Amino acid sequence: MKKNLENIAARIEQLRNELEEHNRRYYVDNQPVVSDFEYDLLINELQTLEKKYPQFLTDSSPTVRIGSDLGQSGTQSEFLQKLHKYPMLSLSNTYDKGELSTFHERVIKLAGIDVEYVCELKIDGSAISLTYHKGMLQDAVTRGDGEKGDIVTENILKTNSVPRFLKGSGYPEEFEIRGEIFMPWSAFDNLNKIRENNEEQLFANPRNAAAGSLKLLDSSLVAGRGLKAILYHYISDSNNFTTHSQAIEAVKSWGLPVSGYSKTCKSIEEVFEFLDYWDSERKSLPYPTDGVVIKVNNLQLQSRLGYTAKSPRWATAYKFKAERALTRLLSVDYQVGRTGAITPVANLEPVLLSGTIVKRASLHNLDQIQLLDIHIDDYVYVEKGGEIIPKITGVELSRRDINATVPSFPSECPDCGTLLTRVESEARHYCPNFKSCPTQLKAGLLHFCGRKAMNILAGDATIEQLYNKGFVKSVSDFYKLSANELLQLDGWKEKSAERFLKSIEESLKAPFHKVLFALGIRHIGETTAKTLASHFENIDNLISATKEELTQVDDVGEIMADSIAGYFANQSALKLIEELRATGMKFSQAESQARIKSGSLINEVIVISGNFSISRDDIKKMIEEHSGKNTGSVSSKTTLLLAGEDAGPSKLQKAKTLGIKIINEAEFMRLIENN
Ligand code: NAD
Repeated sequence: MKKNLENIAARIEQLRNELEEHNRRYYVDNQPVVSDFEYDLLINELQTLEKKYPQFLTDSSPTVRIGSDLGQSGTQSEFLQKLHKYPMLSLSNTYDKGELSTFHERVIKLAGIDVEYVCELKIDGSAISLTYHKGMLQDAVTRGDGEKGDIVTENILKTNSVPRFLKGSGYPEEFEIRGEIFMPWSAFDNLNKIRENNEEQLFANPRNAAAGSLKLLDSSLVAGRGLKAILYHYISDSNNFTTHSQAIEAVKSWGLPVSGYSKTCKSIEEVFEFLDYWDSERKSLPYPTDGVVIKVNNLQLQSRLGYTAKSPRWATAYKFKAERALTRLLSVDYQVGRTGAITPVANLEPVLLSGTIVKRASLHNLDQIQLLDIHIDDYVYVEKGGEIIPKITGVELSRRDINATVPSFPSECPDCGTLLTRVESEARHYCPNFKSCPTQLKAGLLHFCGRKAMNILAGDATIEQLYNKGFVKSVSDFYKLSANELLQLDGWKEKSAERFLKSIEESLKAPFHKVLFALGIRHIGETTAKTLASHFENIDNLISATKEELTQVDDVGEIMADSIAGYFANQSALKLIEELRATGMKFSQAESQARIKSGSLINEVIVISGNFSISRDDIKKMIEEHSGKNTGSVSSKTTLLLAGEDAGPSKLQKAKTLGIKIINEAEFMRLIENN
């Protein structure tokens, strides 16, 4: 008996540790490693054990506490935080209609009468709480740990999906409205395509992408992420609505975004109809949903039902299972990427999934193949969780052929035969032969020419021609090309050669950060290249930076620092930089900013907030022209906060706390003119 209890305690401990780890990956890192369904199975197992053995229940169990999106304990959040007036809780959930009937019976028992529900789509994004004061948005706060959240007002305003000012009339002096910030499928696909091109880690699904985007430190980047909002929970001390649906109608009339798909249901049968309808129809929605939220409509009944520590008793979520299909794994290909990363890709017997025929699925890396215990000829489960390519989530072991073999992960590059390497901190294998592996070379040339890099007029076909003819093997060869050589290529005429050479010449004007991005250093995307360029100012400082110095830069972690240091430790990379330098390419910020007018703002790190008599872009240009540096968020490195009309309250507050000088537009102009 004692032994049995010990085993149970150990299992409970193990489940809690696992769930905490999944919570961190999901809420803080935005990189979950298991599906929601698998997570919910673990939570369920823990809940069942805690119910049966209440002696092991604690207040800190993941069954009692909600997952927190605040930075890990011990690390300082980059955002100011605000206490929620009322805690922001989670929702109980179920995948089973039987359990939903039990929920309904509990509600009926207390209500004593038939109950009206409102069914709303459960949008798969990140929860947000907005407070409006006298018709103006006062702040936007994330759910955080439920008690307090991060103030992300500026980022929310950048999404352009919630108004700063309300329209209409009849709203109370102050109220809170909660809802979801989410990323529509189209924006998610775009974002991941860009990240894939830059070989940055892809977001696993739109929820993680939305949550990550909401916490971007540079709010100007949020605008490009395509986030949207739908609001669904009105809270006010001066509440004069009888039902939830009335409140939402009013919220809509004040110009706030609400869902167009909610339905008031007079019976549980009507609720079931709504669930069945949306289980299939949700696939045609432009944004992700993972279920339906069923809420008691009457507000008085809601308060009588109340809350548990983790969720309201007047609402629950019915979650949809991700659609999956079973098919046979025919073979595995190993693809070489631009930076030499090897990606195993499964070839499948074609199968219909969410309306498209699926023939290939990503297997990510060797660890993933081993984790799933995949064999060739296995029947595998394929899911489309929002990723660009579907993924294999499991194997149907009961159908495994006794002769099925484990796919053999190559030890050599499938393209050039070089022995593959694996960095300890990464799950991927790489072909280290970046000097002569043809796939890497061609992909590197194409990347160098990209619009966001050197903007040279060359696509796949041109690169193929130039490479095969032996005219361009390294990016420095572009600058040695002659019209004569180009005219030897199939289909090239004088005009096209001239245009091409002109674009090469023009590329020399590209600023330092674009040159840095064009080099194609593993893990260094466009944004990081910009940050590195402005931090280190020139290539020599970057080359000599130590790993510690690199990791001090915003957004540069261990993996990036290793990658940068590794790149510059290579003699051939240094030789390439010398060759490129000789062409006149810009390898410093100063060269990029040839239009420097004065040094009046030298050493000033300036954050801009609010509206001015001239555009913010013009102000940014002036800061650069006068040798200052503009950054997006207030930190200890900021020296001035340039505050215009309606400057963000969180920035003002943070600047005051840190003792940073706050100046207005006129003072800024005087700073420049005085010098
Ligand atoms: P939840 O996402 O299951 O439900 C609560 C949330 O639903 C609310 O906070 C709100 O943001 C959202 N929501 C969307 N539409 C809504 C509407 N119309 N009305 C009310 N709320 C609406 O709960 P949670 O606490 O955020 O997360 C727990 C769940 O997250 C787990 O059950 C699991 O599925 C998932 N999770 C997964 C992992 C993983 O590793 N895969 C880890 C942690 C949590």
